[in-house]
Amino acid sequence: MMNKAAKTTIRQEIFGSSMIFSAIILVVFSLFLSSVLYRSRMSKAYGIIKQKNYAVSLFMDGYFSEIDDTVDFLAANEEVQNLPWLYPPARQRVLNLYKSFAKINKKITFIYSGYENHEFLINSEDYKTPKGFNPTVRPWYQSAMAAKPKRSPGIPYQDIKTKEWLFSTSEALFSREHGYTGVISIDCSIEMVTDLLKQRSDVYKSSYSFVTKSDGEIILHHNESLLKKNIAEIIGTPLNLDKDEGRLVFKMDNVKKIAFYSRCNETDWLVFTVVDKNEIIKPIAWRIFFGIMLTGIIAVLLGVGQSFILSRRFSTPLLELRKKVKNIISGNLESDSGYKYPENEIGIIAEEVGRLTAHELYTKSMELAKANRLLEQKNDELKKISTTDQLTGLFNRRKIDSELEKERQRSIRYEKKFSIIMFDIDWFKKINDTYGHQAGDSVLKDIALLLKNNLRAVDIPGRWGGEEFLILCPQADIEEARELGSRICKLIAEHQFTIDRQVTISVGVAEFSGQEKCDDLIKRADENLYTAKHQGKNTVVAS
Ligand code: GH3
Ligand code: MG
Ligand code: MG
Repeated sequence: MMNKAAKTTIRQEIFGSSMIFSAIILVVFSLFLSSVLYRSRMSKAYGIIKQKNYAVSLFMDGYFSEIDDTVDFLAANEEVQNLPWLYPPARQRVLNLYKSFAKINKKITFIYSGYENHEFLINSEDYKTPKGFNPTVRPWYQSAMAAKPKRSPGIPYQDIKTKEWLFSTSEALFSREHGYTGVISIDCSIEMVTDLLKQRSDVYKSSYSFVTKSDGEIILHHNESLLKKNIAEIIGTPLNLDKDEGRLVFKMDNVKKIAFYSRCNETDWLVFTVVDKNEIIKPIAWRIFFGIMLTGIIAVLLGVGQSFILSRRFSTPLLELRKKVKNIISGNLESDSGYKYPENEIGIIAEEVGRLTAHELYTKSMELAKANRLLEQKNDELKKISTTDQLTGLFNRRKIDSELEKERQRSIRYEKKFSIIMFDIDWFKKINDTYGHQAGDSVLKDIALLLKNNLRAVDIPGRWGGEEFLILCPQADIEEARELGSRICKLIAEHQFTIDRQVTISVGVAEFSGQEKCDDLIKRADENLYTAKHQGKNTVVAS
């Protein structure tokens, strides 16, 4: 029988499936973790941006409401409204008014008014307008005129001389006498505002804010090249900015940005707060990475642990069981390692294998015992056959021979006497001839029975040949043997056989000389028997 070599071990298979299981846990949990982490972190990030955005909005409202109030106040001033028609002292008063407002409010760069007649009055004495300067074509002027009778929402524009970016809040001047006469405007330095807008959030270093008009046109941005451009144009997709606040994800200069915008209450401006998406994603990615690593380690440890436990629970008992079965196959039925099997199917199988083995063991031992008994019986029979005479049941010649030799040895060693009696049936041929062979046999059997019943326990009778018998008489001298011979002679002569005639025997007795061989002893007895025959039979001769 060949041992089948297993392609894999149960231990390996358990380990493999545990690892697959761990991997599945890892993948599922990682996806779950990533999604949860991403969502929560993103919403937190939006929360931070939103907070920052609201703060900027509030700041913007506060920052410009003061300017707006000043513009409103000046626009309501009749001297300001009617300046081209006023005399120099009145002009001086207006200029002083401008100067004092500019002095009080540090946010204000310039306060000025321009008129239909191209007249221009500004608080700064250093400021000289170029030759042929026409205020009515300036952006601040046109913006106010476009917005009249309301205040212009404010516009960024570049100073004609310095090219500095300024933010103008302007309002058309309406005089009761002359109608719309010009525009009053207050300029703030954009840099001053955008410096504040540029202020980052504490959390995101890439964050900054900017302001657009409600249509998306950028009016306040620290990057001056973007001023007056539309946000939709920069992002490259049309935007719906009708809502009061919202989220935006876009790409600017190849950098992904996340933005939150909200509308200012006063001005209808939109304040955008922007953060590089990377800055939000990176820490989330790191968290997810560490989460997955941790999950991975836990999953692998769990897998290894599970594999170890399952191996101990199943593989070890199976290996033990295999050893047991191997032992049984190799014929070692009784081997027992003493291993305690678990109380599951493996334990049950081990028990059944044990029971099977015990059964086989029992059957085999029973068969063996039966065979042994048979063999012993046969041996006994064989022994009996080889030592007994079939007809009479007495010892046969071979057995008598060996008993004789043993007695001779004993006699020599212990210096004990022994004798033999030899006898032959008289006229046996005649008995056979007269009554038949079977009657002869019956005479032989009867004589054997007489011997068995009438000898001492120590005497050993045997059939020496056809109708000759020999009796071994241990510890008997010639006289004792002769007496025994005579007794037998008489017993037979007086016995009533099945045939209706007397049967007699002639007896020769001899005592062991002390050194002779068995043959010589037998020969002497035989000679005495011969003598007895010659003396007329039915007699005993001893010497
Ligand atoms: P004697 O008195 O001189 O002994 O004469 P005898 O006839 O007994 O002597 P003999 O030796 O001539 O004859 C022995 C006979 O015994 C011959 C043989 O047929 C017979 N015989 C030997 N063995 C058996 C046996 O087993 N059964 C029977 N029925 N006869 C046997
Ligand atoms: Mg004879
Ligand atoms: Mg005879």
